[in-house]
Amino acid sequence: MIEVQGLRKTYGDRVAVDGISFQVEPGRIFGLLGPNGAGKTTTISCLSGLLKPTAGTIRIAGHDVVTDAREAKRSLGVVPQELAIYLEISARENLRYWGGIQGLSGKDLDDRVETILARVGLADRAKEPVKAFSGGMKRRLNLAIGLVHEPKVVLLDEPTVGVDPQSRGHILELIRERAAAGCAVLYTTHYMGEAEGLCDDFAIIDDGRIIAEGDLEELLARAGDAIQRHSVPEPSLERLFLHLTGKELRE
Ligand code: ADP
Repeated sequence: MIEVQGLRKTYGDRVAVDGISFQVEPGRIFGLLGPNGAGKTTTISCLSGLLKPTAGTIRIAGHDVVTDAREAKRSLGVVPQELAIYLEISARENLRYWGGIQGLSGKDLDDRVETILARVGLADRAKEPVKAFSGGMKRRLNLAIGLVHEPKVVLLDEPTVGVDPQSRGHILELIRERAAAGCAVLYTTHYMGEAEGLCDDFAIIDDGRIIAEGDLEELLARAGDAIQRHSVPEPSLERLFLHLTGKELRE
């Protein structure tokens, strides 16, 4: 489970995240949605222990990420936007290396590496140096690295940006599977349409603040109300965002 209370992060004078709170229960996919610069990556970096919050508390599987960082990290799988892969070695070697860092070894490591390679559709390319991979294949490997140790909590920072439809399908399916297996998943994206089809719960973030939250039905009802008043077509999260901020989201 993920528990975030009053999270704030500033860079000098700039407020990147301005006091946000949310919870993600096991088995749920929580979409943190917002345009570029909204504060999504900063939030993920604080949750993963990469950045120290200016204020607020974060607990991962019951462990405070600042005061109990070691235990918090043991439960955590992070899929960053920047690829965390070595290009000169193979997909299998990348996964063995990162799995080892997560404390896996021996047959357990072997088994989990082969399982995740098959799951992301890279088993038949597992021996090639990763530099020969397409962008989508690298993204799938990046996802596999974050999941190889089967963490209880998964943080994903825009994992489908610039990805071909086949790889996107693989990535989304695997995320659904992890949630069905009981993981608490935090998913950030600026693709509102993609999030509508994937996430159970949502928070829309803009300028570091959560401006709407709830499940899809609640948010679409709000969008619907706004639409009735302005006589525009179908309710969608994108419409709701436009209504709340007056900003267009470009994909
Ligand atoms: P998102 O992931 O939603 O695109 P970010 O969390 O990357 O948003 O950025 C939130 C805000 O913080 C932006 O205004 C961005 O310019 C600023 N920011 C992010 N990283 C830094 C940094 N290292 N130094 C200063 N400002 C930063």
